[in-house]
Amino acid sequence: MPVDDFKHRGRRKMLVDTLRMKGIEDENVLEAINRIPRHLFMDSAFVEFAYRDEAFPIAAGQTISHPYTVAFQTQLLHIQRDEKVLEIGTGSGFQTAVLVAMGAEVFTIERQKELFDFSKVILRKINFEPRYQTYGDGYKGLPSFAPFDKIIVTAGAPEIPTELLKQLTIGGVMVIPVGEKSQKMITIIRLKEDSFEKYEFGDFQFVPMLEHRNK
Ligand code: SAH
Repeated sequence: MPVDDFKHRGRRKMLVDTLRMKGIEDENVLEAINRIPRHLFMDSAFVEFAYRDEAFPIAAGQTISHPYTVAFQTQLLHIQRDEKVLEIGTGSGFQTAVLVAMGAEVFTIERQKELFDFSKVILRKINFEPRYQTYGDGYKGLPSFAPFDKIIVTAGAPEIPTELLKQLTIGGVMVIPVGEKSQKMITIIRLKEDSFEKYEFGDFQFVPMLEHRNK
């Protein structure tokens, strides 16, 4: 088990208090964040900053999302134990670990090989492995494992990918940041086969959701 000492745990507790102050109310989300050693998901140059509520660079020109953003998106998903959750944009794997900690059955896709490899190793090391992890194009979803109770996209999509809507259960929820330069957080609920309800939340800043996997 990699190092997670009392200092890390103390700083993590303070981060959780900050998230609560910023308006995160779902105790299950806060408890999950309190359990995940975020410093192990970051480049060694940034480990000192792991428990600030900030985004930092990871490999392949991508970023590990702000803890607040992870908490906000996860809160919107209303995760229940054993739900099937599809995540697009594994990145560092931190959001994946939070979903696993909440008892979800997680399927996750990443288009950057380097990040796919990195996140696979760390998630196994700390024992927060998703049910299925793949290197591929999230625009396609995972039709062979669909439908999903919840879908979370962690990259900014220019528009809502219709293929992903098809992979939601009836009653299922997708949380996705939509927009080019900056994004609105959108929640979509599938009410019936062809009927969707959409809600819009605040502005966020994500790296772009790009098509095809990067070789
Ligand atoms: N939740 C991650 C966020 C990483 S940033 C974290 O906190 O670490 C978003 C990630 O989405 C990047 O790693 C990027 O490579 C990935 N991504 C972008 N477009 C994608 C696509 N079409 N399919 C899969 N992953 C994608």
